[in-house]
Amino acid sequence: MTPAQEVGQLAAELKPLLARLAELLPESVADPTRGTTGHHKVSGSPAPWHPEAGPVLMTIHAGVRDLERLLRYQITGHSGEDRGGSDGNTMAALDSIIRLVHGVPDELARHAVRELNRWIEQTRQIRDIGESERWIPIHVPKGQLPPECPYCRTYSLRVAQESGRVRCTNPKCEDGNGERPRAHIEKNRLDGSAVLVWGDGRSQYYYGEAS
Ligand SMILES: [Zn+2]
Repeated sequence: MTPAQEVGQLAAELKPLLARLAELLPESVADPTRGTTGHHKVSGSPAPWHPEAGPVLMTIHAGVRDLERLLRYQITGHSGEDRGGSDGNTMAALDSIIRLVHGVPDELARHAVRELNRWIEQTRQIRDIGESERWIPIHVPKGQLPPECPYCRTYSLRVAQESGRVRCTNPKCEDGNGERPRAHIEKNRLDGSAVLVWGDGRSQYYYGEAS
């Protein structure tokens, strides 16, 4: 997978996370341009500015615009007009980044990958997004080796204990679909054995405990 392709994938991952971030904020703050057609959160006390979501969302709104300007400047020699401040404009800037990144040097595309990864991590660490899982090495009985990643053949697999999701933390690794490898654990109720089922359909005997 090229850095430009990875940007497309990460941007697609970031979009729904942004929507969830915005949901944590009072509607008037989340999107002042939306008017009164949407549903309003009605509660006894006014919804406060979410202490974690607000700053992260602002960081991403600004960062996405900066990144778009940087890529556009690289290609056209001018950074284009500034976008307004709505969520819709951030989504449009992300779409623009996905297109522009194919025209820039790999080094700059890799910079975009790092930025997007950072924003995704920052979002996932917010408590109310519910994805702030701790990724830990896979525990195996004494004397056994943990399962190796079936794609890169390294011991880079980590498991999120709460959800049983598994991923490969080797940033260069990709599965049979050219995507970053993700799996979930499926337990056989009859004999207690477990397999990892990967996103591209591959399954693999899983040595450790599933919980
Ligand atoms: Zn791997």
